[in-house]
Amino acid sequence: MVIVFILSRLLLLILLFFGTFVYSAASIPILCYHRFGIEVKDSMTIKIQTFKSQLEWLRMNGYTVISLDTAARYIKGEVQSIPFKSIVITVDDGHKSVYIDMLPLIIKYKFPITLFIYPSAISNATYAMTWEQLRQLEETKLFQVESHTYWHPNFKKEKQKLSAEEYEKFVTIQLVKSKSVLEKKMGHSITYLAWSFGIYDDDLLKKAQSVGYEMAFSIDHKNAKSMEPMMAQPRYMIIEGYDLKRFESICSGKEDK
Ligand SMILES: [Zn+2]
Repeated sequence: MVIVFILSRLLLLILLFFGTFVYSAASIPILCYHRFGIEVKDSMTIKIQTFKSQLEWLRMNGYTVISLDTAARYIKGEVQSIPFKSIVITVDDGHKSVYIDMLPLIIKYKFPITLFIYPSAISNATYAMTWEQLRQLEETKLFQVESHTYWHPNFKKEKQKLSAEEYEKFVTIQLVKSKSVLEKKMGHSITYLAWSFGIYDDDLLKKAQSVGYEMAFSIDHKNAKSMEPMMAQPRYMIIEGYDLKRFESICSGKEDK
């Protein structure tokens, strides 16, 4: 009897250990950047030098930057393992500084980057990249374009402004047109979405899934993981005010709640 008791306790300990391991392993920090500059002119910009020191810190501290697609498939259980200390880098909005300032650094470090783009700005707004620049970025095989809605609306404000019917139509256009235009322009399927301003609600999550997105991302300052909603996987927005100590605390998962 004593042996059976000891064996059952041992089995329980093993299960608990692997349960904890699997839980913690299926969790990954996804970083979200916006634009880069020599000077910081707004809260969305980080200095090129700051960004460079973060890339160097990741490299020196044994981190592996994996693609968003690999991370998403890992979260969904389609990929069984990812390197220890894996991290994902994403950049929202398609600002010109991605092409001018970020590209040379990414070619040097060879880290895979996902760009969340709202197509209405591309080859149109003065601050945005052109379609040709986006294609050049993808030709490096280091950049992947995904969707950031069609024109970056504030869904909360639009919901208040529009009738229920108008709002429904508006959401469909923002999610579907972004996907179809990007697919046509970039020549590959678009399966991931980043919520503009990080705004989402239950209806939006359902809508994103129903129009064919496989995963969507917020900026809820937590690790992405299988326990989080597939259409609202959290990311950490990185700002200039974070020093390397704060950056380390995010990358190591210390800020994951
Ligand atoms: Zn944005």
